[in-house]
Amino acid sequence: MEKQLEELKQQLEKQCMINQELQRQNKDLEQRLQEKEKLLQELDSQYHDLDFPSQSSHDIDPEVRKSRAAVIASEPIPETLEIKCMRVKKNASETNLIVKAIQKNDFLSRLDDEQTAMMVDLLAVSSFKPGEDVIKEGTEGDSMYIVAAGELVVTQAGRNLRSLTTGDVFGELAILYNCKRTATVKAKTAVRLWSMERQTYRTIITNKSKKKREQLMGFLKTSHTLKDLNNVQLSKIIDSMEEVKYQDKDVIVREGAEANTFYIILKGEVLVTKNVNGHQKQIRRMGKGEHFGEQALIREVLRTATCSADGPVTCFSIDKEVFEETIPIEHLELFDDSKVLQEAQAPEKTNPSSTLRFKDLVPVQYQEGRYQGDPVTLGVGGFGRVELVTTLNHGKYYAMKRVSKKHIVAKRQEEHMLFEKKILKATQCDFIVGLHASFKNSRYIYMVMEFCVGGEIWTKLKEVGRFDEPIAVFCTSCVVEAYAYLHKKNIMYRDLKPENLMLDVKGYVKLVDFGFAKELVRGEKTYSFVGTPEYMAPEIIKNQGHDFAVDFWSLGVLIYELLVGSPPFSSSEPQKIYAKILDGVPKYPPYMSEAAKSIVSKLCRPRPGQRLGNTKNGIKDVRNHRWFGSMNWHKLRVGQLDAPTVRLIRKGPCYINFDRFPVDQTKAEEEFSGWDREF
Ligand code: ATP
Ligand code: MG
Repeated sequence: MEKQLEELKQQLEKQCMINQELQRQNKDLEQRLQEKEKLLQELDSQYHDLDFPSQSSHDIDPEVRKSRAAVIASEPIPETLEIKCMRVKKNASETNLIVKAIQKNDFLSRLDDEQTAMMVDLLAVSSFKPGEDVIKEGTEGDSMYIVAAGELVVTQAGRNLRSLTTGDVFGELAILYNCKRTATVKAKTAVRLWSMERQTYRTIITNKSKKKREQLMGFLKTSHTLKDLNNVQLSKIIDSMEEVKYQDKDVIVREGAEANTFYIILKGEVLVTKNVNGHQKQIRRMGKGEHFGEQALIREVLRTATCSADGPVTCFSIDKEVFEETIPIEHLELFDDSKVLQEAQAPEKTNPSSTLRFKDLVPVQYQEGRYQGDPVTLGVGGFGRVELVTTLNHGKYYAMKRVSKKHIVAKRQEEHMLFEKKILKATQCDFIVGLHASFKNSRYIYMVMEFCVGGEIWTKLKEVGRFDEPIAVFCTSCVVEAYAYLHKKNIMYRDLKPENLMLDVKGYVKLVDFGFAKELVRGEKTYSFVGTPEYMAPEIIKNQGHDFAVDFWSLGVLIYELLVGSPPFSSSEPQKIYAKILDGVPKYPPYMSEAAKSIVSKLCRPRPGQRLGNTKNGIKDVRNHRWFGSMNWHKLRVGQLDAPTVRLIRKGPCYINFDRFPVDQTKAEEEFSGWDREF
């Protein structure tokens, strides 16, 4: 008995010790947990600085894009515009003042040296008396200004914002497009300003960009390796090349080193030397337009000479790897333009339901709520209003876009409008909204489209904050299919954004709004300034000429916006958006997957020729990217995939997935100029 008691006592003591040990361990764990929590809090506050919407849905950072993006469509530049404004001579201190002003401006400082130099040349002088308005809030701007002398005051809705003095820049966005002035600037003292008009700036920059491309094309054609390539291929190579600057005596390539870059000299002189018995012997001197290192593009070689800068030098260069990605070099296939053109000009299919008559269409009305009895408006864009209509006899729904002809003429968007209808009529693709009929009268033009009942991706995105990866992958895949269809027909879309993506009843995504789409011959560039600021590619902002590659840039922006809830380059001030785009480095939030970051950075490469989708395998490379790893492209194309987006679609009255809009009381003025003859 006593023995048993002793044993029990021992066991009890042992248990006590174990308990104590466990308690100690518990404490330890608790302490470690506290430390971890503290660390998490710290990390959280660090991430807070990073400008992203918070993890929880419905809670979107007030800084990010809350409203619909503004669309921009600059007036076309007349091909034959004669620039009367000529060079205005400036002395050294004036030049200095202008250059400094440009350098400290967010947007202007990111333009190329040549563009800055041209601006310095062309700025004209103007004077204002005290009390005179230089720009007026609410008016459309056409010039930018740099203060040469004097003081001005900036006011907004009658409120003083700040004053401007020598060296300050204002109204700079007006050199890009016809934007509304957001403030009034009045001369306080007598003022002297340097000013530049958009028409002048854009015409000159466009001509310069065109000339530069032609010149580069000529330079490339002097290379033995490249001379057999056609213009489309050479143009692609130019799109992949990058500008590099060297200082006096910098070695550009060194004899004996592995060769992997090809160079064209754009500015300055290059000395070519060779090692002869331990001494550098000069072989030749090269200048503008000459090239070196072409062998590096096609075979593994070592540099046979040293090339160094003699004074400041600017080169245009391309690496072997980039070159190989740009065009197929093994069997150089010539691109057959004629085939693609034939396809684009194939007779348009007559639409089976194009027997719709205007008088048979009746507006659908809101059934409840504060707009009860009013016609249902599905959306209002920069140019039109889209209303829900139905037919009396078979009760099908349609989305009818109505655009004021007068407004189109005022904004000089006639070409865009005609083309929108032409494209929609000619397309037959499950990822593009269908057009059933079009009408016009003296005030409006109308397009009757298939009704996308699921609403805009934009609305859904704002509802949930950000999409999870499967939804983002699905939406983007639909866009990729639409792109493949359009690009094959040589059409660029140019207005990708969540506002222009609609869900159909199955949750499949369709592109709507072809107001900015354009047909372009392969190898050619266009110079218009169109799009939505957050989605614009750098080459549009810099007016370097653009093509299909801008659609891949905007695809990268879209993927980012779908996953994060706001686009990678955003700000409440457009000039800051452009500055960020030209810097081109998006900040990725910690929750974005590696694959997502990879595809965004590949699509948003600054050089169009290096962008995923625009390299030698074209759109195939986009489809094959690992971010789309789980996508069954074939099933998607034939509509056999279950769309993960269906859970975003609400059930209820047919307009339940749309924002509500008050009725439009205004009536557009009549317009008879006849631009819509072909509509
Ligand atoms: P933007 O300002 O983008 O140029 P817009 O005036 O050219 O716009 P759209 O973008 O074509 O007009 O249409 C405006 C809105 O109308 C869309 O964002 C969408 O909400 C709605 N909408 C357009 N087409 C359809 C459709 N087929 N089905 C349902 N809603 C549609
Ligand atoms: Mg739109």
